[in-house]
Amino acid sequence: AGSLFIVATPIGNLDDISQRVLQVLREVAWVAAEDTRHSGKLLSHFNISARFLSLHDHNEKQRAASLLQKLQAGESVALVSDAGTPLISDPGYSLVRLCRDAGVKIVPIPGPCALIAALCCAGLPTDKFHFIGFLPAKSGQRQQVLSDIPANVGTLITYEAARRVKDTLADVAVVFGDERELVLAKEISKTFEHFCHGTAQSITAWLEEDPQRCQGEMVLMIAPPADKPDDDIHPAAQKTLKLLMSELP
Ligand code: SAM
Repeated sequence: AGSLFIVATPIGNLDDISQRVLQVLREVAWVAAEDTRHSGKLLSHFNISARFLSLHDHNEKQRAASLLQKLQAGESVALVSDAGTPLISDPGYSLVRLCRDAGVKIVPIPGPCALIAALCCAGLPTDKFHFIGFLPAKSGQRQQVLSDIPANVGTLITYEAARRVKDTLADVAVVFGDERELVLAKEISKTFEHFCHGTAQSITAWLEEDPQRCQGEMVLMIAPPADKPDDDIHPAAQKTLKLLMSELP
């Protein structure tokens, strides 16, 4: 049977393509792409011609079945999305699951992924993090999703649409307070790449200084809650302190 390659492509700078990506894209029988025109341009930039099939959110289930047939007939397939790693807020989950259950070999071709690129340069804790993809478009639902997240999951990472970022920052302040440390990573690997570090208020102010800053692709990261000063006090001393406090008028 053929193999299914899950191929990461650049998120901005085309020089981030790897030799292995180019080799796989040259050799496979089919390239399954979210947007065949978009990926066609990427491949022609590297002088690669391929047979494309579209695989997007609306046709994934039925396309997955026909791709499985091709794989079982011995043809290899590369899955790419418009940018970054497939399946990460992008199509491919149904296909991978179907292929896994059918015993097809699935091969990762690792590469760019916006959330990882953002996190490793943000200066926020990286030992534990929680990726929440895109938040809901409506403010009420967004606040609900944010307040349902337990406090101990580490740094929160969300993909954000430029047109919504200011509203989301306002909701972040409502749910986590004005003091919470945030980092907004913009246009990673592109000309106007920028990491803006601050609070919901200061980042909003920075965005408002120049309308251009509210455009482009962005990842918003929310630091875990700061340690409470109480945590430095021995538990036994904390208990005594509590007792004493309760005696206060
Ligand atoms: N699969 C992709 C990945 O591996 O990162 C993500 C696809 S998702 C549909 C697109 C979102 O990823 C954008 O809205 C933005 O939040 C984030 N993103 C993609 N490229 C980016 C970049 N160059 N800089 C900042 N964020 C980016």
